[in-house]
Amino acid sequence: MKSLLLLALVIFAMNDTFAQPVIKVRGSEDSVAHLSQIIKCLDYLDIRENICLNVYFSSHLSNQLDGTTYVQPAPALNGRQLVKVIVIRIASSLTKEKQSLVLAHEMIHVGQIIRGELEFDKQQVIWKGRKYLDRLLEPRRTPWELEAYRQDRALAAISTLPTVTLPMASHTAY
Ligand SMILES: [Zn+2]
Repeated sequence: MKSLLLLALVIFAMNDTFAQPVIKVRGSEDSVAHLSQIIKCLDYLDIRENICLNVYFSSHLSNQLDGTTYVQPAPALNGRQLVKVIVIRIASSLTKEKQSLVLAHEMIHVGQIIRGELEFDKQQVIWKGRKYLDRLLEPRRTPWELEAYRQDRALAAISTLPTVTLPMASHTAY
């Protein structure tokens, strides 16, 4: 049973190594922890698409936002974007705990974007096919924000759990 569990863990680790999304973390004071959290969020949110995810911790966020997520225009071939480039910006002034919560929140938006539920089109946001004028909306009351606020605490909690390390003895099989 133990070796089966170990095998499952090894396969899981290999899947992580060869996962399709390309992740870049910049400006973080704990990039190892943040990268680990992002990988776990991608797993929990079942995001396996070939995306490029750039996560920036920055002191220059507009409108005093804690975090924001958007799609960055990327090189296209025959009018088709080759890779979806998604950018997350998080205020570096936040506490470590708040940064993890905001990261989980923004990852929920990444999931919404990947599933095609949330789209950005200049001045408007399209949610499940319906157009919203972004600037006229109360930021916390839109359906995509309500969904993210409903789920972000649970996702932050589960994605920041320390990774289980098996004791040496259980690795030894005769
Ligand atoms: Zn949000």
